[in-house]
Amino acid sequence: MERFSGLSLLRHALGGHQGWKPFWREPEPKAEYDAVIVGGGGHGMGAAYYLAKEHGLRNIAVLDKGWLGGGNTGRNTTIIRSNYLFPESAALYDHALKIWETLSQDLNYNTMFSPRGVLMLAHTVHDVQVFKRHVFANQAAGVDNEWLTAEECKAYCPALNISQNIRYPVVGGALQRRGGTARHDAVVWGYARGADAMGVDIIQNCAVTGIRRDASGAVEGVETERGFIRTKKVGVSAAGNTSVVMSMAGLRMPLESFPLQALVSEPVKPDFPCVVMSNTIHAYISQSDKGEMVIGAGTDAYTSYTQRGGLHIAGHTLDAICELVPMYRRLRMLRNWGGIVDTTPDRSPIISKTPVKGLYVNCGWGTGGFKATPGSAHLFAHTIAKDEPHPINAPFSLDRFVTGNFIDEAAAAAVAH
Ligand SMILES: Cc1cc2nc3c(=O)[nH]c(=O)nc-3n(C[C@H](O)[C@H](O)[C@H](O)COP(=O)(O)OP(=O)(O)OC[C@H]3O[C@@H](n4cnc5c(N)ncnc54)[C@H](O)[C@@H]3O)c2cc1C
Repeated sequence: MERFSGLSLLRHALGGHQGWKPFWREPEPKAEYDAVIVGGGGHGMGAAYYLAKEHGLRNIAVLDKGWLGGGNTGRNTTIIRSNYLFPESAALYDHALKIWETLSQDLNYNTMFSPRGVLMLAHTVHDVQVFKRHVFANQAAGVDNEWLTAEECKAYCPALNISQNIRYPVVGGALQRRGGTARHDAVVWGYARGADAMGVDIIQNCAVTGIRRDASGAVEGVETERGFIRTKKVGVSAAGNTSVVMSMAGLRMPLESFPLQALVSEPVKPDFPCVVMSNTIHAYISQSDKGEMVIGAGTDAYTSYTQRGGLHIAGHTLDAICELVPMYRRLRMLRNWGGIVDTTPDRSPIISKTPVKGLYVNCGWGTGGFKATPGSAHLFAHTIAKDEPHPINAPFSLDRFVTGNFIDEAAAAAVAH
């Protein structure tokens, strides 16, 4: 694998940029692998990378029905933070945040991680109580999070309107300074490049259409659009399509899939120094390196597999944003798109073994799994390789929906991203 550096960039520039090689091969699927990952998003691709790097499995395939990162990984608004309420969640998301901090160096690929701070606005007395509870819980658990007054929010993000005469006045905010954003598809490309170099086969345009089980019920292989592939271990990381894929093995998942949408504006000069989120009005904003304002809206109210959200949802979000940041009234929106997010009843993810021997699942990240990508991939690889969960993901098992040991972040905060 070519090592990227200033020097290699210069060498390619001198050669007129004609010498760049593809980042990964386009192999034909083999008849058999030691492990197959279904889904080439950040979570699946990352899991293959860590299986190869940390667990010595090299005979692995990642199968995707489309192109790498064409699912939610390439559709999200890239907010990264770890200030969740419960100790289990804070540990999980902080595990990811710590990996983000050195991921570009680890992959030798710029994931453009930008810890510019994530400011979560409070608009009501209830918000204030909930966010302060988060701040105290996080500080006790060693995760950074701090409370800001409305004036301090304005000092941190000068574009904010903190007038108290608007529909959703800013009455304070919780700030995680280590939070921020990263470049969504760079993450999956970086993992793909690293995994390919260790021998992982990346097979795009290859939908899994069935999961075959042997007489004992264990996984025997996967049926795909390009034929049957034998394997004893299948890791499913298919985000919005998890229920569909898992039903191929006869498992019914505790998931609902909803469309979630985002928008970007025309590019403007840098004027928004951080990420701002508002759960109450369900809007979140950051500025991309190109200058576009990246805006996320809420989920549609109904389940669907359409990668497109309702216009009224985007309208509601933009109304609220125009009040919060009045100068954006003059911005034109360039485009919007949607993804399908799979949500669990307690709004916490599942990284788990399943009742089917050899079948593992990583799903239920809902509207907020991008931030977890490296941590989730790392833990999923451990779970697949060792056939048992890592202590950090042990609480996020599938059987918590049988035992009742929920990690109810939804009830705790109605937190979106
Ligand atoms: C609009 C939007 C905004 C979001 N904003 C944020 C945010 O700001 N912060 C945050 O943390 N999270 C956010 N999320 C959530 C985040 O994007 C997801 O949780 C995360 O990217 C999921 O990654 P993944 O690798 O699990 O899934 P994906 O990237 O969706 O990958 C799953 C892959 O599985 C493949 N697949 C499905 N079925 C099959 C099959 N039968 N055979 C083969 N392959 C299959 C798909 O093609 C896809 O490439 C947002 C999501 C959306 C849609």
